[in-house]
Amino acid sequence: MHHFHYVNGRLHCEDVSLDAIADAVGTPVYVYSSATLRRHARVIAAAFEGMDCLIAYSVKANGNLGVLKTLAAEGCGADVVSGGELKRARAAGIPASQIVFSGVGKTRDEMRLALSESIHQFNVESEAELEVLAEVASKMGATASVAVRVNPDVAAGGHPNISTGKAGDKFGVPWEDADALYDKIARLEGVEAVGVDVHIGSQIDEIAPMRAAFERVMTLVRGLREKGHAISRVDLGGGLGIPYRETDDPPPPADYANMIREVTEGMGLQVILEPGRVIAGNAGVLVTEALYRKPAPKREFLIVDAGMNDLMRPALYQAHHDFLPLKERAADAPRMRYDVVGPICESTDKFAAERELPVMEPGDRLAMMSAGAYGAALSSQYNARPLAAEVLVDGDQFAVVRRRPSFEEMVALETFPDWLT
Ligand SMILES: *Cc1c(COP(=O)(O)O)cnc(C)c1O
Repeated sequence: MHHFHYVNGRLHCEDVSLDAIADAVGTPVYVYSSATLRRHARVIAAAFEGMDCLIAYSVKANGNLGVLKTLAAEGCGADVVSGGELKRARAAGIPASQIVFSGVGKTRDEMRLALSESIHQFNVESEAELEVLAEVASKMGATASVAVRVNPDVAAGGHPNISTGKAGDKFGVPWEDADALYDKIARLEGVEAVGVDVHIGSQIDEIAPMRAAFERVMTLVRGLREKGHAISRVDLGGGLGIPYRETDDPPPPADYANMIREVTEGMGLQVILEPGRVIAGNAGVLVTEALYRKPAPKREFLIVDAGMNDLMRPALYQAHHDFLPLKERAADAPRMRYDVVGPICESTDKFAAERELPVMEPGDRLAMMSAGAYGAALSSQYNARPLAAEVLVDGDQFAVVRRRPSFEEMVALETFPDWLT
């Protein structure tokens, strides 16, 4: 469900025409729908109604401050994977008591920052990290609330590059080592075990692997409690898939929630969730303008002004995005098979191969749909291209929530060494 639709033949985000935004702000530009963000946050919250549940939005999916503040107003917490994301979440008004800190490579500085903020929980991913966290916290006279991220050895996720819960992935600690690590936490100063954490992948389109992973976690919780560990929380990560194509059919949040309800029934646990894509993915589009058509055997190249630096998902994991022309076309309008490519000097700078689209002329604009998660977040200034602007729409109003940097801003951190001046 999202709020991008045609009104009088023009593609709109809520009540604002995307052409009006492109005219005012230029292209390429990311456009986010507040109503869609809110709706997704509410659907998830409603699905878990009555449970002790913290919805910690995964900031890495889309960390724009306007997006975070919109979600903060819905009561979302945050799952962060760096000190920078922690600061973003706090700057958007998300209380530290609703922030969990994940990631395999937390530095001492990041740990100190998170401890000084008294965040809800550290998700620890290795014994070595645990030892450092205990040392840093002890020195500060603090106690870190810890959940160990376990690797349940379950394969899931839409692409091998976004599967994280299989033995051999760099994430979490091997299932068999968890017990010993909790015993160690009990012996260490500065850390206290409060929960068990798992996150098995992203763009997961079936309930079964998640259930299998969560059931393993519950077995672990029971065993840990028997040994005297006071486990009061489980963090079940994110990963719920979204429809990128009309034919995609990921499990509805209600089915996901019901499964979690069943699995955690009677355990007296706070359930932490870290949804990212399912909240932000369909709430954003990337608007781009066609620059040139170029003939090629059996198809044409459609060269657009967005590149893989703006939207990396197709290059990184062969991801599919639907494209909608901003100007609605009749069902019988002429169509053409295009390789939709950007201006970047890389052959992977291709958004789609042999995609059938209505004929596009230079100056025509397209929306790359479902680009709200892992879109702007993954962008770079490769080829000295400025980051795309980001716009947030709410009803009939829109605001630039990240403007395009000037050339001077792009090079502001660079200096010539003495010997060249
Ligand atoms: C990326 C990530 C998430 C969010 O995943 P989605 O698929 O966007 O829901 C949640 N938790 C952790 C630890 C992650 O790395």
